[in-house]
Amino acid sequence: MGLIAKVAVVVLVISFMTFVAFFGRLPALRHTPVAWLHRAIWVYIPNGVLALDQALTGGRIVASAGTFGHSVWYGRHPTVLIFYILLLSVGEFLYLPGAWPRLSSFHQVVGAIAIILPYVFLYLAASSNPGVITVATHARYMSLYPYDFTLFHPGQECRSCNLLKPPRSKHCAVCKRCVARLDHHCVFINNCVGYGNQHWFLLLLLSTALLTTYGGALGLRMISENARARSTLFALWKHPQQSWHHYFILLTYGIQLDVGVGSVTLLTVMTSPLVWGLLGYHTYLIYCGTTTNESLKWQDWQVEMNDGFAFRRRLPIPRKRHPQFEASWTRWPVEPAQILVRTEDGQPPNDAAPPGNGPWEPVRHLRDIENIYDIGFWDNLVDVFVPNHSFRAESQPDLERGKRPKKTKA
Ligand SMILES: [Zn+2]
Ligand SMILES: [Zn+2]
Repeated sequence: MGLIAKVAVVVLVISFMTFVAFFGRLPALRHTPVAWLHRAIWVYIPNGVLALDQALTGGRIVASAGTFGHSVWYGRHPTVLIFYILLLSVGEFLYLPGAWPRLSSFHQVVGAIAIILPYVFLYLAASSNPGVITVATHARYMSLYPYDFTLFHPGQECRSCNLLKPPRSKHCAVCKRCVARLDHHCVFINNCVGYGNQHWFLLLLLSTALLTTYGGALGLRMISENARARSTLFALWKHPQQSWHHYFILLTYGIQLDVGVGSVTLLTVMTSPLVWGLLGYHTYLIYCGTTTNESLKWQDWQVEMNDGFAFRRRLPIPRKRHPQFEASWTRWPVEPAQILVRTEDGQPPNDAAPPGNGPWEPVRHLRDIENIYDIGFWDNLVDVFVPNHSFRAESQPDLERGKRPKKTKA
Protein backbone atom coordinates (compact mmCIF):
# COMPACT_ATOMS: atom_id res chain seq x y z
CA MET A 1 0.00 0.00 0.00
CA GLY A 2 1.38 3.39 -0.97
CA LEU A 3 1.89 6.14 1.55
CA ILE A 4 -1.11 8.13 0.34
CA ALA A 5 -3.36 5.07 0.54
CA LYS A 6 -2.21 4.43 4.14
CA VAL A 7 -2.84 8.04 5.11
CA ALA A 8 -6.26 7.90 3.45
CA VAL A 9 -7.20 4.72 5.34
CA VAL A 10 -6.12 6.23 8.70
CA VAL A 11 -8.03 9.42 7.91
CA LEU A 12 -11.12 7.45 6.89
CA VAL A 13 -11.08 5.31 10.04
CA ILE A 14 -10.62 8.34 12.32
CA SER A 15 -13.40 10.24 10.53
CA PHE A 16 -15.77 7.31 10.69
CA MET A 17 -15.16 6.59 14.38
CA THR A 18 -15.56 10.30 15.13
CA PHE A 19 -18.82 10.21 13.22
CA VAL A 20 -20.09 7.20 15.19
CA ALA A 21 -18.99 8.73 18.50
CA PHE A 22 -20.60 12.08 17.62
CA PHE A 23 -23.81 10.94 15.98
CA GLY A 24 -24.40 7.41 17.23
CA ARG A 25 -26.84 8.40 19.94
CA LEU A 26 -28.80 11.03 18.07
CA PRO A 27 -32.52 10.29 18.01
CA ALA A 28 -32.67 10.93 14.26
CA LEU A 29 -30.34 7.98 13.67
CA ARG A 30 -32.12 5.60 16.03
CA HIS A 31 -32.94 2.99 13.38
CA THR A 32 -29.83 3.27 11.23
CA PRO A 33 -26.56 1.27 11.03
CA VAL A 34 -24.74 4.15 12.75
CA ALA A 35 -26.86 3.73 15.90
CA TRP A 36 -26.35 -0.03 15.67
CA LEU A 37 -22.57 0.39 15.45
CA HIS A 38 -22.63 2.80 18.39
CA ARG A 39 -24.56 0.23 20.41
CA ALA A 40 -22.24 -2.52 19.18
CA ILE A 41 -19.20 -0.67 20.50
CA TRP A 42 -20.74 0.33 23.83
CA VAL A 43 -23.22 -2.47 24.56
CA TYR A 44 -23.12 -5.58 22.35
CA ILE A 45 -19.34 -6.16 22.33
CA PRO A 46 -18.93 -5.59 26.11
CA ASN A 47 -21.96 -7.84 26.76
CA GLY A 48 -20.54 -10.47 24.38
CA VAL A 49 -17.22 -10.41 26.25
CA LEU A 50 -19.12 -10.74 29.55
CA ALA A 51 -21.15 -13.70 28.23
CA LEU A 52 -18.09 -15.41 26.77
CA ASP A 53 -16.19 -14.97 30.04
CA GLN A 54 -19.20 -16.28 31.95
CA ALA A 55 -19.35 -19.38 29.74
CA LEU A 56 -15.62 -20.13 29.69
CA THR A 57 -14.34 -19.17 33.14
CA GLY A 58 -17.50 -18.57 35.15
CA GLY A 59 -16.90 -14.83 34.94
CA ARG A 60 -13.46 -14.91 36.56
CA ILE A 61 -11.62 -12.73 34.05
CA VAL A 62 -14.18 -9.94 34.17
CA ALA A 63 -14.35 -10.18 37.97
CA SER A 64 -10.59 -9.85 38.23
CA ALA A 65 -10.66 -6.91 35.87
CA GLY A 66 -13.16 -5.71 38.46
CA THR A 67 -13.65 -2.06 39.07
CA PHE A 68 -11.11 -1.20 36.39
CA GLY A 69 -13.25 -2.66 33.61
CA HIS A 70 -16.38 -1.18 35.11
CA SER A 71 -14.92 2.29 35.28
CA VAL A 72 -13.61 2.05 31.72
CA TRP A 73 -17.08 1.28 30.35
CA TYR A 74 -19.34 3.19 32.72
CA GLY A 75 -17.15 5.65 34.59
CA ARG A 76 -16.13 9.23 34.01
CA HIS A 77 -12.66 9.29 32.51
CA PRO A 78 -10.84 11.64 30.16
CA THR A 79 -9.85 9.12 27.44
CA VAL A 80 -11.85 10.76 24.66
CA LEU A 81 -10.95 14.24 25.90
CA ILE A 82 -7.26 13.30 25.59
CA PHE A 83 -7.93 11.76 22.15
CA TYR A 84 -9.54 15.02 21.07
CA ILE A 85 -6.64 17.17 22.35
CA LEU A 86 -4.17 14.79 20.65
CA LEU A 87 -6.09 14.94 17.37
CA LEU A 88 -5.96 18.75 17.48
CA SER A 89 -2.34 19.02 18.62
CA VAL A 90 -0.86 16.29 16.40
CA GLY A 91 -2.80 17.72 13.44
CA GLU A 92 -1.36 21.18 14.11
CA PHE A 93 2.12 19.75 14.69
CA LEU A 94 2.02 18.01 11.28
CA TYR A 95 0.37 20.88 9.42
CA LEU A 96 2.04 24.04 10.68
CA PRO A 97 5.77 23.53 9.84
CA GLY A 98 4.94 23.18 6.13
CA ALA A 99 2.06 25.62 6.03
CA TRP A 100 3.16 28.52 8.26
CA PRO A 101 5.94 29.97 6.02
CA ARG A 102 3.55 29.92 3.06
CA LEU A 103 0.85 31.97 4.82
CA SER A 104 0.48 35.75 4.53
CA SER A 105 0.69 37.73 7.80
CA PHE A 106 -3.10 38.13 7.71
CA HIS A 107 -3.63 34.37 7.62
CA GLN A 108 -0.94 33.89 10.27
CA VAL A 109 -2.84 36.17 12.68
CA VAL A 110 -6.28 34.71 11.89
CA GLY A 111 -4.80 31.19 11.95
CA ALA A 112 -3.26 31.71 15.39
CA ILE A 113 -6.63 32.86 16.76
CA ALA A 114 -8.43 29.94 15.07
CA ILE A 115 -5.95 27.50 16.62
CA ILE A 116 -6.18 28.91 20.15
CA LEU A 117 -9.98 29.27 20.42
CA PRO A 118 -10.92 25.54 20.47
CA TYR A 119 -8.48 24.98 23.36
CA VAL A 120 -9.96 27.91 25.28
CA PHE A 121 -13.56 26.75 24.80
CA LEU A 122 -12.59 23.13 25.46
CA TYR A 123 -11.08 24.20 28.78
CA LEU A 124 -14.14 26.28 29.68
CA ALA A 125 -16.64 23.57 28.66
CA ALA A 126 -14.73 20.83 30.50
CA SER A 127 -13.97 22.75 33.67
CA SER A 128 -17.22 24.71 34.13
CA ASN A 129 -19.92 23.57 36.49
CA PRO A 130 -22.67 22.27 34.16
CA GLY A 131 -25.33 23.07 36.78
CA VAL A 132 -24.85 20.41 39.45
CA ILE A 133 -27.87 20.24 41.73
CA THR A 134 -26.98 20.09 45.42
CA VAL A 135 -28.85 21.05 48.56
CA ALA A 136 -27.23 24.48 48.31
CA THR A 137 -28.18 25.11 44.65
CA HIS A 138 -31.52 23.30 44.57
CA ALA A 139 -33.76 26.33 45.19
CA ARG A 140 -32.05 28.31 42.44
CA TYR A 141 -32.50 25.58 39.84
CA MET A 142 -36.13 25.07 40.89
CA SER A 143 -36.82 28.71 40.00
CA LEU A 144 -35.38 28.55 36.45
CA TYR A 145 -38.33 26.89 34.71
CA PRO A 146 -41.88 25.87 35.65
CA TYR A 147 -42.92 22.23 35.35
CA ASP A 148 -44.58 21.73 31.97
CA PHE A 149 -46.78 18.82 33.19
CA THR A 150 -45.79 16.99 30.00
CA LEU A 151 -42.13 16.00 30.16
CA PHE A 152 -41.64 17.12 33.75
CA HIS A 153 -44.16 16.69 36.53
CA PRO A 154 -43.74 18.08 40.05
CA GLY A 155 -43.07 15.83 43.02
CA GLN A 156 -40.57 13.42 41.43
CA GLU A 157 -37.47 12.75 43.43
CA CYS A 158 -34.08 11.55 42.23
CA ARG A 159 -33.50 8.25 43.98
CA SER A 160 -29.73 8.70 43.99
CA CYS A 161 -29.51 12.33 45.08
CA ASN A 162 -32.67 12.32 47.25
CA LEU A 163 -33.68 15.72 45.92
CA LEU A 164 -36.80 16.79 44.04
CA LYS A 165 -35.97 16.88 40.33
CA PRO A 166 -36.13 20.50 39.13
CA PRO A 167 -37.90 20.99 35.77
CA ARG A 168 -35.66 20.05 32.79
CA SER A 169 -33.02 18.46 35.04
CA LYS A 170 -31.72 14.91 34.72
CA HIS A 171 -29.49 12.61 36.71
CA CYS A 172 -26.26 11.97 34.78
CA ALA A 173 -25.55 8.25 35.05
CA VAL A 174 -21.86 8.76 34.27
CA CYS A 175 -21.15 11.55 36.77
CA LYS A 176 -23.72 10.28 39.32
CA ARG A 177 -25.29 13.66 39.94
CA CYS A 178 -28.35 15.64 38.94
CA VAL A 179 -27.69 18.46 36.47
CA ALA A 180 -29.91 21.42 35.59
CA ARG A 181 -31.24 21.34 32.01
CA LEU A 182 -28.97 18.41 31.20
CA ASP A 183 -28.54 18.07 27.47
CA HIS A 184 -26.28 15.01 27.47
CA HIS A 185 -23.06 13.74 28.97
CA CYS A 186 -20.30 14.51 26.49
CA VAL A 187 -17.24 12.24 26.44
CA PHE A 188 -15.27 14.75 24.37
CA ILE A 189 -15.28 17.25 27.25
CA ASN A 190 -15.54 14.56 29.97
CA ASN A 191 -18.34 16.60 31.51
CA CYS A 192 -22.10 16.95 31.36
CA VAL A 193 -23.49 19.56 28.98
CA GLY A 194 -26.08 21.42 31.01
CA TYR A 195 -27.45 24.78 32.03
CA GLY A 196 -24.09 26.05 33.27
CA ASN A 197 -21.84 25.19 30.31
CA GLN A 198 -23.95 24.57 27.22
CA HIS A 199 -22.83 27.91 25.76
CA TRP A 200 -19.15 26.90 26.09
CA PHE A 201 -19.96 23.56 24.45
CA LEU A 202 -21.63 25.32 21.49
CA LEU A 203 -18.71 27.74 21.14
CA LEU A 204 -16.35 24.76 21.20
CA LEU A 205 -18.30 23.21 18.32
CA LEU A 206 -18.35 26.50 16.42
CA SER A 207 -14.61 27.18 16.90
CA THR A 208 -13.73 23.58 15.92
CA ALA A 209 -15.94 23.81 12.83
CA LEU A 210 -14.31 27.12 11.82
CA LEU A 211 -10.80 25.76 12.45
CA THR A 212 -11.30 22.61 10.38
CA THR A 213 -12.95 24.55 7.55
CA TYR A 214 -10.33 27.30 7.55
CA GLY A 215 -7.39 24.88 7.83
CA GLY A 216 -8.95 22.68 5.16
CA ALA A 217 -9.46 25.59 2.75
CA LEU A 218 -5.88 26.87 3.18
CA GLY A 219 -4.57 23.30 2.86
CA LEU A 220 -6.48 22.70 -0.36
CA ARG A 221 -5.07 25.92 -1.75
CA MET A 222 -1.52 24.77 -0.95
CA ILE A 223 -2.09 21.30 -2.41
CA SER A 224 -3.46 22.93 -5.52
CA GLU A 225 -0.43 25.26 -5.77
CA ASN A 226 1.88 22.24 -5.43
CA ALA A 227 0.05 20.44 -8.23
CA ARG A 228 -0.05 23.50 -10.45
CA ALA A 229 3.72 23.80 -10.17
CA ARG A 230 3.78 20.45 -12.00
CA SER A 231 1.06 21.19 -14.51
CA THR A 232 -0.67 24.53 -15.04
CA LEU A 233 -3.74 22.62 -16.22
CA PHE A 234 -4.55 21.52 -12.67
CA ALA A 235 -7.48 23.02 -10.80
CA LEU A 236 -9.22 21.65 -7.69
CA TRP A 237 -12.47 21.80 -9.63
CA LYS A 238 -11.38 19.40 -12.38
CA HIS A 239 -10.84 21.01 -15.75
CA PRO A 240 -13.15 19.35 -18.36
CA GLN A 241 -10.23 18.75 -20.72
CA GLN A 242 -8.27 16.94 -18.05
CA SER A 243 -8.76 13.20 -17.57
CA TRP A 244 -9.66 11.86 -14.10
CA HIS A 245 -6.52 9.76 -14.20
CA HIS A 246 -4.31 12.78 -14.78
CA TYR A 247 -6.25 14.82 -12.21
CA PHE A 248 -5.65 12.24 -9.46
CA ILE A 249 -1.98 11.86 -10.32
CA LEU A 250 -1.51 15.60 -9.93
CA LEU A 251 -3.63 15.71 -6.76
CA THR A 252 -1.62 12.90 -5.22
CA TYR A 253 1.56 14.70 -6.20
CA GLY A 254 0.24 17.88 -4.52
CA ILE A 255 -0.51 15.95 -1.32
CA GLN A 256 2.73 14.02 -1.35
CA LEU A 257 4.90 17.12 -1.72
CA ASP A 258 4.06 17.91 1.93
CA VAL A 259 2.54 14.86 3.59
CA GLY A 260 1.86 16.76 6.84
CA VAL A 261 -0.24 19.45 5.18
CA GLY A 262 -1.77 16.92 2.77
CA SER A 263 -2.95 14.37 5.34
CA VAL A 264 -4.25 16.95 7.82
CA THR A 265 -6.09 18.69 4.99
CA LEU A 266 -7.75 15.37 4.07
CA LEU A 267 -8.73 14.90 7.72
CA THR A 268 -10.25 18.38 7.99
CA VAL A 269 -12.15 17.97 4.72
CA MET A 270 -13.70 14.76 6.06
CA THR A 271 -14.37 15.84 9.64
CA SER A 272 -15.57 19.41 9.21
CA PRO A 273 -18.98 18.36 7.78
CA LEU A 274 -19.44 16.24 10.93
CA VAL A 275 -18.67 19.14 13.23
CA TRP A 276 -20.93 21.49 11.25
CA GLY A 277 -23.62 18.79 11.33
CA LEU A 278 -23.37 18.49 15.09
CA LEU A 279 -23.44 22.28 15.50
CA GLY A 280 -26.47 22.42 13.17
CA TYR A 281 -28.21 19.72 15.18
CA HIS A 282 -27.68 21.59 18.46
CA THR A 283 -28.78 24.85 16.88
CA TYR A 284 -31.93 23.08 15.67
CA LEU A 285 -32.60 21.82 19.22
CA ILE A 286 -32.33 25.40 20.52
CA TYR A 287 -34.63 26.56 17.70
CA CYS A 288 -37.16 23.99 18.93
CA GLY A 289 -36.62 24.99 22.59
CA THR A 290 -35.53 21.51 23.57
CA THR A 291 -32.50 19.45 24.57
CA THR A 292 -31.10 16.10 23.46
CA ASN A 293 -32.60 14.55 26.59
CA GLU A 294 -36.00 16.17 26.02
CA SER A 295 -36.05 15.29 22.31
CA LEU A 296 -35.91 11.61 23.36
CA LYS A 297 -38.83 12.20 25.74
CA TRP A 298 -40.79 13.92 22.95
CA GLN A 299 -40.14 10.92 20.72
CA ASP A 300 -41.49 8.60 23.42
CA TRP A 301 -44.63 10.76 23.63
CA GLN A 302 -45.07 10.46 19.87
CA VAL A 303 -45.10 6.67 20.26
CA GLU A 304 -47.71 6.92 23.06
CA MET A 305 -49.81 9.22 20.87
CA ASN A 306 -49.59 6.85 17.90
CA ASP A 307 -50.76 4.02 20.17
CA GLY A 308 -53.63 6.12 21.54
CA PHE A 309 -52.41 6.15 25.16
CA ALA A 310 -51.88 9.93 25.53
CA PHE A 311 -54.52 12.19 27.10
CA ARG A 312 -54.59 15.82 28.12
CA ARG A 313 -56.74 18.32 29.87
CA ARG A 314 -56.64 21.99 30.77
CA LEU A 315 -54.67 23.47 33.63
CA PRO A 316 -56.32 26.52 35.21
CA ILE A 317 -54.68 29.90 34.66
CA PRO A 318 -53.60 31.28 37.04
CA ARG A 319 -52.81 28.04 38.78
CA LYS A 320 -52.11 27.54 42.46
CA ARG A 321 -48.66 25.97 42.70
CA HIS A 322 -48.03 23.06 44.95
CA PRO A 323 -46.19 24.65 47.90
CA GLN A 324 -44.14 21.55 48.64
CA PHE A 325 -43.16 20.46 45.13
CA GLU A 326 -42.94 23.65 43.08
CA ALA A 327 -41.06 26.93 43.33
CA SER A 328 -43.38 29.80 44.20
CA TRP A 329 -41.80 31.87 41.40
CA THR A 330 -39.80 31.18 38.23
CA ARG A 331 -38.07 33.60 35.88
CA TRP A 332 -39.71 31.88 32.87
CA PRO A 333 -42.39 33.87 31.00
CA VAL A 334 -44.66 30.95 30.12
CA GLU A 335 -46.81 28.76 32.36
CA PRO A 336 -48.25 25.37 31.40
CA ALA A 337 -51.82 25.41 30.09
CA GLN A 338 -52.29 21.65 29.93
CA ILE A 339 -51.37 18.39 31.58
CA LEU A 340 -50.45 15.35 29.51
CA VAL A 341 -50.64 11.82 30.90
CA ARG A 342 -50.48 8.27 29.54
CA THR A 343 -52.83 5.48 30.50
CA GLU A 344 -52.22 1.75 30.37
CA ASP A 345 -55.47 0.79 28.64
CA GLY A 346 -56.04 3.56 26.12
CA GLN A 347 -59.02 4.81 28.14
CA PRO A 348 -59.12 8.37 29.49
CA PRO A 349 -58.00 8.58 33.14
CA ASN A 350 -60.99 8.36 35.51
CA ASP A 351 -59.14 10.47 38.02
CA ALA A 352 -61.06 13.68 38.62
CA ALA A 353 -58.59 15.02 41.18
CA PRO A 354 -56.29 17.90 40.24
CA PRO A 355 -54.04 18.91 38.65
CA GLY A 356 -56.16 20.05 35.76
CA ASN A 357 -59.86 20.31 35.24
CA GLY A 358 -62.42 19.51 32.57
CA PRO A 359 -62.65 16.40 30.42
CA TRP A 360 -59.64 14.39 29.27
CA GLU A 361 -59.16 14.30 25.51
CA PRO A 362 -56.95 12.01 23.47
CA VAL A 363 -53.90 13.54 21.76
CA ARG A 364 -52.74 12.22 18.40
CA HIS A 365 -49.95 14.57 17.33
CA LEU A 366 -47.02 16.29 19.00
CA ARG A 367 -48.00 19.51 17.21
CA ASP A 368 -51.17 19.63 19.34
CA ILE A 369 -49.07 19.95 22.48
CA GLU A 370 -47.35 23.20 23.25
CA ASN A 371 -43.73 23.13 24.34
CA ILE A 372 -43.57 25.84 27.03
CA TYR A 373 -39.76 25.76 26.93
CA ASP A 374 -39.83 27.13 23.39
CA ILE A 375 -40.21 30.92 23.59
CA GLY A 376 -38.87 31.68 20.10
CA PHE A 377 -35.41 31.12 18.64
CA TRP A 378 -33.87 34.38 19.85
CA ASP A 379 -35.07 34.04 23.46
CA ASN A 380 -34.11 30.35 23.47
CA LEU A 381 -30.59 31.44 22.46
CA VAL A 382 -30.56 34.10 25.18
CA ASP A 383 -31.56 31.40 27.67
CA VAL A 384 -28.55 29.31 26.62
CA PHE A 385 -25.99 32.10 26.38
CA VAL A 386 -27.06 34.37 29.25
CA PRO A 387 -27.39 32.24 32.38
CA ASN A 388 -29.85 33.56 34.96
CA HIS A 389 -31.42 35.96 32.48
CA SER A 390 -34.86 36.89 33.78
CA PHE A 391 -37.52 36.75 31.09
CA ARG A 392 -40.26 37.88 33.43
CA ALA A 393 -39.65 41.63 33.59
CA GLU A 394 -40.01 42.16 29.87
CA SER A 395 -42.83 39.68 29.48
CA GLN A 396 -45.08 40.59 32.40
CA PRO A 397 -48.31 40.84 30.35
CA ASP A 398 -47.85 37.32 29.11
CA LEU A 399 -48.16 35.83 32.54
CA GLU A 400 -51.61 34.70 31.69
CA ARG A 401 -50.29 32.07 29.60
CA GLY A 402 -51.16 30.11 26.65
CA LYS A 403 -51.77 33.38 24.82
CA ARG A 404 -48.17 34.45 24.65
CA PRO A 405 -47.64 35.68 21.09
CA LYS A 406 -45.32 33.05 19.68
CA LYS A 407 -42.78 34.10 17.16
CA THR A 408 -43.70 32.46 13.92
CA LYS A 409 -41.16 30.13 12.49
CA ALA A 410 -40.51 30.06 8.82
ZN1 LIG B 1 -29.69 12.65 40.83
ZN1 LIG C 1 -22.14 13.69 33.23
